[in-house]
Formats: sequence, C-alpha cells, structure tokens
Amino acid sequence: MGVFLDGQPAAEGIGEGRIIRLSWVLPRVAHRSIAPEEVDRELEALEAAFAGARREILRLQAGTEERLGAVEARIFDPQLLMLEDPEVLEGTRRYIVENHLAASKAFDWRMLELRELWSATQHPMVLDRLNDLEDLQLRVLRGLLGLNDPAILTPDRGRVILVAPNLTPSVIVQLDPEVVAGIATDEGTRSSHWAILARSQHIPAVVGLGDAYARAVDGQDAIVDGRIGRLVLGPEEEDREVYQSRRARLRGFEAEIEAIAEQEAVTADGHPLSLRANVDLPVEAEMARAYGAHGVGLFRTEFLVVGRNTMPGEDEQYEGYARVADTFPDHPVCIRVFDLGGDKFPMFLNMPTEENPFLGWRAVRVLLDEPELFRTQIRAVLRATTHGDVRIMVPLVNDVEEVLAVRALFKEEEAAMLRDGVPFNVGYKLGVMIETPAAALDAAELARHTDFFSIGTNDLVQYTLAVDRTNARLRHLFNPFHPSVVRQLHSVARVARAAGIELSVCGEMAATVLGAFLLVGLDISTLSVAWPAL
Ligand code: PEP
Ligand code: MG
Repeated sequence: MGVFLDGQPAAEGIGEGRIIRLSWVLPRVAHRSIAPEEVDRELEALEAAFAGARREILRLQAGTEERLGAVEARIFDPQLLMLEDPEVLEGTRRYIVENHLAASKAFDWRMLELRELWSATQHPMVLDRLNDLEDLQLRVLRGLLGLNDPAILTPDRGRVILVAPNLTPSVIVQLDPEVVAGIATDEGTRSSHWAILARSQHIPAVVGLGDAYARAVDGQDAIVDGRIGRLVLGPEEEDREVYQSRRARLRGFEAEIEAIAEQEAVTADGHPLSLRANVDLPVEAEMARAYGAHGVGLFRTEFLVVGRNTMPGEDEQYEGYARVADTFPDHPVCIRVFDLGGDKFPMFLNMPTEENPFLGWRAVRVLLDEPELFRTQIRAVLRATTHGDVRIMVPLVNDVEEVLAVRALFKEEEAAMLRDGVPFNVGYKLGVMIETPAAALDAAELARHTDFFSIGTNDLVQYTLAVDRTNARLRHLFNPFHPSVVRQLHSVARVARAAGIELSVCGEMAATVLGAFLLVGLDISTLSVAWPAL
C-alpha cells in the first residue's frame, strides 16, 4: 500500500502524476549598509522594484481575467493594494533613510515586521492573507536582487503532482492545467486564494496535509484525491487500480453528464427531487448548469469579499449576482447575504481577534452591526431580483428579532429605491438558514416571519455537537447522522411542511449518498450541493 496522507479537500477531482516539490523559501537577504550618498540610489531602486512588481501583477491579473473571469482576477487586488500601502512603502523607506540599509534589506525587514504583526492574530483568514504578502515579498525581492522568475514547471516531465508547503495566487495562475494533475500542500485552507483559483482551473487540490512536503520525494508517483482530501504517496498497483477505476467512472460519468443532467430528478418510487447548486464564485454557476442544477440553493457571496482590502461596490456586487441569476433564468437563485467572520474574514473590517470565532462576531451579527456594509449588499441584491426568481437568504439566524431587524433594513432600502426609480421585484422571497440548535428549536416561530428555510448542516452539526468543523483532529466526531442532528432535521422538516414553506438542505451532508438518502427519507426533497456532487 502506498502512504495515505489525509488533509482537507480544496478542489474536486482525482489526479495522478510524478511529484515535483516546490518550496517557497524566501531568498535570504544579506545585510548591507550603505553610505549616506547612496540613499537616493536605493530609494530609486525600491521605487523601480515596486513599479516592476506592479506591472507584473497587472499582467498576471489581465491574464487571469481573460482565462478565468473578472472575480478571479480580483484575487490579485490585495497585492496591488499592499504595494500602495504606506505601512509597506514608508516603513521600508525609513529603514533606508534612517538606518542606511540597502533597499533589499530594508524591505525584507519591513515585511518581516508586518508578517509577525499579522501572524500574531492566528486568525485563519489573516493567515491566508499572509500568503498574499509572501507572494508579493518574493516578487519585489526578485526585482531588488536581480533574481529570475523561477521556471515553475518543465513541460517534458509529463503529468505532475505539485507538493508544496503552501502555494500563492501568482504561482497557481501560471500553472498549466494540462501539466499539473494535482496539488497537495501542508498548509492552506479551502478559502485560500490559490485554492479558489485551483477550483476555477479544475486542478484537484488537497490542503492542510501537515508534513506532505517533508515526506514526498521528487519524481515519486502520487495520487491526489480532491474529493476526500487525500494524497497517496508511492501508490501500489492495487491503489492505482482503485483510483484508475474511480477516475474512469468519473470520466465516464462526465462524458454522460449532459444526457444525465437532462434526466428528471426522481426517486425509484416516483418522488420528485429538486437539485440545486452551491456556488462560491459566479463562474461556478455555469458548471452547475452544465451538471443539471435546477437553480442555486446557496450562493456564498462572501467569496466576493474575503481577502480584499476594500468592499466591492454596489455595481460590482450587482454584476456578480446578476451573472449567477442570468445563468438560471427559469429557476430559483438563493443569494446568501455575507457570512463574514468565522473562518471568512475580509481585510477591510476590523474583525476582533476572538477566542472562538465560530461563536463570535459572524454572519447576521456582523451585518446588523455594520449597516452601511449591509445596505450596499441589500441594494445590489434587490437590483438583481429583476433577473428571475432571485431569493435572499440570511445566515446564522438564532431568533425572530434578527429576522425583523434584517427585514427593516430591506424595507428602508426598498423605499429609497422606489423613490429613486430603481427597479426590483417587490415579491422577492426572504428566507433564513437553519444553522444553530436555537433556530431549529424555534423553527415554528421563524417560519411565521420567513418565506423559506435552508438547513446548513455544516454549521448545525458543529454547533449541536460542539465540534469545530475546521478541526481535522475532530473529524471523526463531526457526525451529521448523530441522533441529535437527525432529530432536528426531522423536526424542522415537519415545521416547514406544517407552515407551508419551502425547505432545502445546503450543507455538505446533502452531497453524500447516505446523507441525501436520509434527507429524502425525512421528506426534504430540495437539496443543494457543490456542482461536482450533482
Ligand atoms: C452550512 O453551514 O451548512 C452552510 C451551507 O454554510 P457554510 O458552509 O457556508 O457555513
Ligand atoms: Mg453555514
């Protein structure tokens, strides 16, 4: 048997190839003092390196936009903003002018300081942004030290599995998906920018493996299973056969998908189901349609925001929402308002460092505390309701008061839009996610104030069982089939039926065979899953 290493799935699919280890060691920058008359020259060198980095990032960004889309291209924004950040530039200048350090060392020190400052938070989203910082640091240092851009892959090696401590957005957009069969990293999360880009490029990826880089050997055969988050090092013939047959089944399935996608979703005993898609980025809506989704059950809008230094404006948000809605003109599209906090963290909000971010300032709590941020989204979403059956969904609701507060903000924005003659669909539906035991237990009351429910089992399981959904060590305890969870599912299903409102499930549970089977048995017949699971 090969060596099996388990991490977190970050991009779907199975890939097989030979390992190339890619290490992101920042170059060691020698200490170099300069004479006072050299200060101007070093300041100019710094400026030139920043200008060069900016040009390169803009070039990568343009290429990404052309190949993958506008939202994906925005992933480079934080790096462009860091280049303009006085914290970065002025801090470096000061070391040159006051400490008489060469530009390269001055910049290196400043970045070291910023990294220490950021790392202290230990917040997953901030740690993800450190990755952007490193990407930028490498680029500028290469300019200052006259190093070449590393040749990322030599195409004559055939299909490769890239194993790295972590990756960066710059690297991922330069990879050729024809060459890179899979990616495995020690660090990173599903919401790392590079992981989002791997998904857009259909490169299977597994993150959070811990020590894969140390254990992997260059040239060794490996398999990446991005469906369950596994890296197989040195697979034996039997492993290979298992994966080859799985992959062949997947390929066969993909080849048939157009025909299958058109089939009616109905159980053997004639019970109709409605299958919708979970979408993180607008580009995924098209995949979902090709895979036969009847609409979008969950559009995680926070992915338009995480890691950016500024809030996307109303027009930009509207375009993203409208694009998804236009992909499904004849089906419902449920836009979930920002679920920020927890493990999804935007740079522009001063998120507090919290002991328990998942029990902290998150989702609807953030939205109600930051009404200006929320109002911009409300207007953008309302404008998008003219593009078909666009519904609005509120995350992490605990009680009716929160629903009423959300509705009040919607009403105010509606009034302003009516006054300004901005069109929207006055009959739009507003629903809540059932993600906490509080909401599940109080579902009857919530049903009186909402148009639909969608159960987020990822959070419902974590909050019911007190098991952190991101903690790999507790994975065996994260059990959607625990009786306490099943009882809540059953009870919410009965409440929704009695109240005559639609109920769906959009947590990962719906994407597993047994989970879907159980949910249908509980008379929940609208399921929303990531497109590969459709
Ligand atoms: C859930 O909690 O099950 C859910 C679908 O929302 P998210 O995974 O985005 O928290
Ligand atoms: Mg959730």
